[in-house]
Amino acid sequence: MTETGTQRPSDFIRNIIKEDIRAGKHGGRVHTRFPPEPNGYLHLGHAKSICLNFGIAAEFGGLCNLRFDDTNPSREEASYVAAIKEDVRWLGFDWEDREFYASDYFETLYEYAVRLIRDGKAYVCDLSPDEIREYRGTLTSPGKESPYRNRSVEENLDLFARMRRGEFKDGSRVLRARIDMAADNLNLRDPVIYRILKTPHHRTGDRWCIYPTYDFTHGQSDAIEGITHSLCTLEFEDHRPLYDWFIENLGIFAPRQIEFARLNLTYTVMSKRMLLELVEGGYVSGWDDPRMPTLSGIRRRGYTPESIRNFCERIGVAKRESTVDIALLEHCLRQDLNERAPRVMAVLRPLRVVIENYPEDRVEMLPALNHPANPDMGTREVPFSRVIYIEREDFLEDPPKKFYRLAPGREVRLRYAYFIRCVGVVKDDATGEVVEIRCTYDPETRGGDAPDGRKVKATLHWVSASHAVPAEVRLYGHLFSKENPADVKEGEDFKASLNPRSLEVLTGCRVEPGLAGAPPGARYQFERLGYFCVDSRDSSPDALVFNRTVTLRDTWARIRKTEARQRKETP
Ligand code: ATP
Ligand code: MG
Repeated sequence: MTETGTQRPSDFIRNIIKEDIRAGKHGGRVHTRFPPEPNGYLHLGHAKSICLNFGIAAEFGGLCNLRFDDTNPSREEASYVAAIKEDVRWLGFDWEDREFYASDYFETLYEYAVRLIRDGKAYVCDLSPDEIREYRGTLTSPGKESPYRNRSVEENLDLFARMRRGEFKDGSRVLRARIDMAADNLNLRDPVIYRILKTPHHRTGDRWCIYPTYDFTHGQSDAIEGITHSLCTLEFEDHRPLYDWFIENLGIFAPRQIEFARLNLTYTVMSKRMLLELVEGGYVSGWDDPRMPTLSGIRRRGYTPESIRNFCERIGVAKRESTVDIALLEHCLRQDLNERAPRVMAVLRPLRVVIENYPEDRVEMLPALNHPANPDMGTREVPFSRVIYIEREDFLEDPPKKFYRLAPGREVRLRYAYFIRCVGVVKDDATGEVVEIRCTYDPETRGGDAPDGRKVKATLHWVSASHAVPAEVRLYGHLFSKENPADVKEGEDFKASLNPRSLEVLTGCRVEPGLAGAPPGARYQFERLGYFCVDSRDSSPDALVFNRTVTLRDTWARIRKTEARQRKETP
């Protein structure tokens, strides 16, 4: 497989759609939807669903709706709606004027419920929630019929109307579909379809005090919108017979539901419930904490929408549950940033270097490439002077064998500048810590090559001490230290595997002067260190804050290489 510009491989969903088009189903029309519940922020799993639904609509000349499945007023908020819209737009998708809300169908859904009552297919039940659960039975034992199951149509119509008028207490009555208490599929054992909930809704206010359940809403909303292919995750497979029952018994448009496996990522939890717990418990700074797998989090971290779309294309869709290595996500990100991020120099842990034979008052502007592989990205000039900073870890007083960087007596190249040789070390009297390096430079090596052909083994990045701009840099690791953090035993808390070192804040970093005033969201490669972006929340022109988006080390490429080698070795 080549990395870019590949023909999109087909998958079982696209094959079904092609077949439906060939068969002339719905006149060849393809209409999908992305149906979030506005009870949290979107995460990478949702990105998979968004790319799939919008992607398929675009490929087959169809349409994709954005529909909020807002049936649970106690957990939903308008702020989530706004955030979800921003995220879908950021990913690069456009729902045009097709922004819908299940709550706009409440009146229609109520009429549907009345229709079922009239047909003897729904009844008002006075059992308590606990009793309903108990009567439901289990996978191995059949359910028991509710004593209210055989109420007359008239009584049911009257009670349901009074439920709507608010005459009864929360939880005192429900409306249930009258299907089959002995069905193998528990979802068909007279499921609850309306509940009393005297909670205002973020869109309908206090107009309603009864709300349809998600199961009574989702499929019918698809039907109302004329959705041809209703794509959802595997956990809805068992609900499909129920959705089909509603559609059939209401005699409304029948979408085709197709289930696919959710996206799971290593070192990540992908459930809104768990993510909400991290936010509310203060384990992260918010939904958009750059360590969160939310779209707002990875956006702030510096991910590009292109890299997410490419990732979603590469993982594809399948029926089988699996977990994707987060290294693949990072690999897609690096591929994209490698092309688009201009190179700059920044020193995260500065060590002062004085170049003894460089004149005190001299400043040279040295040309540097913004992207060594792409001349179109141009050049810039970086100032060089007598006192510079290098990375603390690029110097060792007593270097081990394979350390080729700066050490006493050794010569290295400064990127775009000169060769320097270490001629002395200044230490803190009290601690013995190296606080300054003394060097000499060779004026003949300007630009980075020696006329006499002598070689050096390392090239270091650097900044001029008096020109560099101070910055704070935030380094991120995986939020969890366990590969599958959601895999917890009874009584265990998934938060126990939070990685205590997922955030390291470095202050006193120095970046080259060209970055002064860098705008929020701007992305760079800090040479030799990784990809970084200006934090959109905490950075200001006079107090820069950068997030490390990802390091340069590509573990995915290494995994692939090892696999390839192993394949060769074992014929
Ligand atoms: P969560 O389990 O994280 O709370 P959800 O399924 O409750 O997510 P919804 O708002 O109902 O969240 O999801 C909207 C759409 O996104 C649904 O069609 C759902 O199937 C899909 N989706 C949710 N999580 C994933 C995932 N991890 N991978 C792929 N699709 C997902
Ligand atoms: Mg859901």
